[in-house]
Amino acid sequence: MDERAFDLAGEAEEKQRQQGVANRVQYCGVSALECGECGEGIPEKRRLAIPGCQLCVDCQQLRERRV
Ligand SMILES: [Zn+2]
Repeated sequence: MDERAFDLAGEAEEKQRQQGVANRVQYCGVSALECGECGEGIPEKRRLAIPGCQLCVDCQQLRERRV
């Protein structure tokens, strides 16, 4: 139950992030299979949700916090 709620919240967050990113940076092209920062594999779901994404969720969040 908790796990599913977490998943749904994650999806909503992902959509929000996607829209925020789309407003700032025009992502296009092929998503990376591995994170450009840490080399961690990027989940297919994320790669499909964010075309052209180059970072895993963790590194993306760190980067957005830094900017
Ligand atoms: Zn990473």
